[in-house]
Amino acid sequence: EIEIRDLHKSFGDNQVLRGIDLEVDAGEVVCVIGPSGSGKSTLLRCVNLLEEPTSGKVFVGGTEVTDLDVDIDAVRRRIGMVFQQFNLFPHLTATENLTLPQRRVLGRGKAEAAETAARNLERVGLAAKADAYPAQLSGGQQQRVAIARALAMGPEVMLFDEPTSALDPELVGDVLAVMRRLAQEGMTMMVVTHEMSFAREVADRVVFMDGGVIVEQGPPAQVVGDPQHERTRHFLNRIL
Ligand code: ATP
Ligand code: MG
Repeated sequence: EIEIRDLHKSFGDNQVLRGIDLEVDAGEVVCVIGPSGSGKSTLLRCVNLLEEPTSGKVFVGGTEVTDLDVDIDAVRRRIGMVFQQFNLFPHLTATENLTLPQRRVLGRGKAEAAETAARNLERVGLAAKADAYPAQLSGGQQQRVAIARALAMGPEVMLFDEPTSALDPELVGDVLAVMRRLAQEGMTMMVVTHEMSFAREVADRVVFMDGGVIVEQGPPAQVVGDPQHERTRHFLNRIL
């Protein structure tokens, strides 16, 4: 479903990604871990072209998104992304945050957008907060609205960049529960996270990045439970 081939990305002479090869199959959940500055966010941002790769190819659902002739907006519609910062519109209710992009980007009518919004707020357990403004919601609830907003666009794959890092510890669990359910429903997901218990329980595969390369990857029991590389062990010792 996602295929990354020899991906390189430099900012000036800073080589941030130095040859990434990675495949994420349909329905697979891949967690990406690694130290700060290793290129995790840049990797995700190259998948939906928020960053333009310096070289290499990225395919999503068989379409080469790095093809110069590709319709970037059409590609982005197929890829949902959730960031550490929720980026909700503060002057819009939860429902309106979900309906606006559906109407603007997908051209959906009012009724369909509203129905899809309701269904997806329900999906993240926030049907009761449909008319609340972001300031009236906890950080965890705001992040669940942000997830519902991405889902309402009907993406084929979801990218998460440290979705729980900005949350108070007691709010992390609800967001992870929503992501766990999404994984069980068969969503294809790439998740940058420091939540090792989530990676262990939910990921089909864990990828450890350092210095812009994939150092090792495999099932969580292997990469997190029994890492083969010194750099992976060193990283895990610091965060666990
Ligand atoms: P963290 O765990 O702190 O989020 P990360 O693994 O996500 O780190 P990236 O954000 O991908 O790391 O950054 C990798 C490197 O790329 C860093 O050295 C960063 O300074 C650089 N970088 C990222 N985005 C840009 C940009 N837009 N312009 C210039 N340099 C950038
Ligand atoms: Mg990052």
